[in-house]
Amino acid sequence: MVQEYEIIVVGGGPAGLSAGIFISRQKASCLLISKDLGGQLNLIPKLENYPGTIMSSGPLLAKTLENQYLTFNGEMIYDTVERIDETESGLKVKTNRSEYIAKAIVLAPGKVPNNLGVENESAFANKGVHYCTKCDAPFYQNRVTAVVGVGGYLVESGILLSRMASKIYLIYKGGGMGGDKDMIASLEKKENVELVPQSSIKSLSGNNNLQSITILDNSGNEKTINVDGLFIEMGSKINLDFVRHLVKINPKGEIEVSEGGKTSHPAIFAAGDATSIPYKQIIAACGDGAAAGLSAFNYIEKLKGKPGIRADWKKTIGDSVFHY
Ligand SMILES: Cc1cc2nc3c(=O)[nH]c(=O)nc-3n(C[C@H](O)[C@H](O)[C@H](O)COP(=O)(O)OP(=O)(O)OC[C@H]3O[C@@H](n4cnc5c(N)ncnc54)[C@H](O)[C@@H]3O)c2cc1C
Repeated sequence: MVQEYEIIVVGGGPAGLSAGIFISRQKASCLLISKDLGGQLNLIPKLENYPGTIMSSGPLLAKTLENQYLTFNGEMIYDTVERIDETESGLKVKTNRSEYIAKAIVLAPGKVPNNLGVENESAFANKGVHYCTKCDAPFYQNRVTAVVGVGGYLVESGILLSRMASKIYLIYKGGGMGGDKDMIASLEKKENVELVPQSSIKSLSGNNNLQSITILDNSGNEKTINVDGLFIEMGSKINLDFVRHLVKINPKGEIEVSEGGKTSHPAIFAAGDATSIPYKQIIAACGDGAAAGLSAFNYIEKLKGKPGIRADWKKTIGDSVFHY
């Protein structure tokens, strides 16, 4: 028999887990389906910018969020969602191993950063090689760094690093950089930025941590430079094949959301890095996950003819319960 839930959350990263916490705390039946626990949190051994914690780690935050969700009796399974379809009995969620029905869905499938594709790249991940400049640039104050990437990602990464690192090599394949013209002009004037056009990275070296990179230019010349850190900004993959027939997706391949995580489908809400929000950070994913969770809860309440709530807390005065 197909199991039924009021709300199903897709994704066990910070957005999905936060949505699950806010849904299950309202005592709605909630199933969270995810390929793994934590998503991109697993790529963050040192977490400095999550408000309320001075220094934490991504995996520790993921475990804490999971425990919090389970405390409120939320259910969780590890599986991959292959397709969501509308049926007469509700939204059918087909996974690798099973099928479920829900009245509302919260999508939080996040994204995965693209690799550079150089041999031994993974051996230096978080040991000098980084995939999120806005997250990890502050660890490189007054140190020598390089950035390799494409389009606006490269330019934004260069600008950020130029405020912190002592030296930045900006490596790109073409003759010029793509992206915002003013930002490119500002980068070109920075004394600590060295442009390395028509080049790519051939190899990475170091003992435990990254120590140098070898650059290959279009004429076949090689140059090895010592760096403390390399930032890879090659964009990221968002896979929405399982739901793209139901919700509006923007030209960047993100789910278009409005206030409260609403999508173009009345019963489907979304949060986190897979959506059109501007700042792809954990705190934003958690906040938007909470909002999308509450929106989904209000949606199912309205189906039952109930008024819904405005916040996740309430006050009892006499016999009356006030929701804020
Ligand atoms: C290297 C790196 C360092 C970072 N450092 C920081 C930092 O220091 N501070 C900060 O604030 N942010 C940081 N970020 C960004 C932060 O990790 C993301 O903004 C945040 O994780 C987004 O959360 P999310 O829940 O939207 O997505 P994700 O974390 O990507 O989680 C998505 C989840 O959905 C699951 N999923 C996807 N598709 C399916 C499917 N079809 N079926 C089932 N499950 C599915 C995935 O397995 C995953 O569990 C960093 C990112 C990277 C890559």
